[in-house]
Amino acid sequence: LPEADRLAGRFPVTPHPLPATQAQRAQALGDLHFGRVFSDHMAHARWTRDGGWDAHEIRAYGDLTLSPAAAVLHYGQEVFEGIKAYRHDDGTVWTFRPRYNAARLNLSCRRMALPELPEEDFVASLVDLVRTDVEWVPSGEGESLYLRPFAFASEAFLGVRAAELVDYYLIASPSGAYFPNGLKPVSIWVTQDYHRAGRGGTGAAKTGGNYASSLLPQRLAAEQGCDQVCFLDDVTGDNLEELGGMNLMVVDADGTVRTPRLTGTILEGSTRSAILRLLLDAGRTVVETTISLEGLLEGIASGKVREVFACGTAAVVVPLGRLRGDGFDVTIKGAEVTHEIHDRLTGIQYGRVPDPYGWMY
Ligand code: PMP
Repeated sequence: LPEADRLAGRFPVTPHPLPATQAQRAQALGDLHFGRVFSDHMAHARWTRDGGWDAHEIRAYGDLTLSPAAAVLHYGQEVFEGIKAYRHDDGTVWTFRPRYNAARLNLSCRRMALPELPEEDFVASLVDLVRTDVEWVPSGEGESLYLRPFAFASEAFLGVRAAELVDYYLIASPSGAYFPNGLKPVSIWVTQDYHRAGRGGTGAAKTGGNYASSLLPQRLAAEQGCDQVCFLDDVTGDNLEELGGMNLMVVDADGTVRTPRLTGTILEGSTRSAILRLLLDAGRTVVETTISLEGLLEGIASGKVREVFACGTAAVVVPLGRLRGDGFDVTIKGAEVTHEIHDRLTGIQYGRVPDPYGWMY
């Protein structure tokens, strides 16, 4: 909190008429569909090659004016983040490891030739926006204010080079519990036709193009009746990488937890990293390794593999109940460790148990 107080005010509020009335806000908070309703304000800062970052402000949430020639619309030079603010029972509001997301945004910026945003500015934008729109942080079970920082090339120039004008924004969307009726197992289509990332590509960055290229395989997975698509690596075509927006973990019958190692083609999740810590501190064996699809299917058949789950900020933890692909269709029954981890992590995030890690901010 002392740091939040020190950073507060870096994004001063620009005076404006309030877009939402109390009544509209109450109605919006009563009907939380992910990513459709937004809070009253947004944070903004602008970067120019000559002047660096400037013009930090909190202003009314609203449409942007952008040149049709803005480079982001043509070449996709863009990065984003995802992080939540949680309301605790005493009314205080907390985020989870904002420095992690600040550092990851800058990793993404580096890969996409965008200017890095000072970590303190990133955190300050969260502090200032959440303080300004604190009434937008819902308080129901599993609810949160989803925060979406992003930066993009706004320079009006069609030449293919790194933009010299870049805008950073932070918007916020109140969101409901991902699974209002408890953790529901999801079905996964393992695509062998498409890859999310390749060696030397942008897989480890959180950039729009990675998500654009996942939409077709995701649609094909849905046509197969599956909830989500799982990607394999592009070199061997047999090693598990991740889902379109979540990392993967495999729980063996002996209690060992395995997760695909970071090869440069996987996005390193904040949730993944926190879960590895929690598992280690619970005395479990945790391995970051290569996990082949073939080995996984054998393990499920023999009983060596008990659970598979996905993890990410939006859903926290999701058990995989069924794995399908060309020539296989298997069910996974176990979800004991999955539930254990879900309860432990959300316990910390919602302030129901102490946070020995200093993760809550
Ligand atoms: N992988 C991908 C591709 C993602 O988009 C996300 C969501 N940011 C994750 C993994 C999980 O990351 P985190 O736990 O930081 O939300």
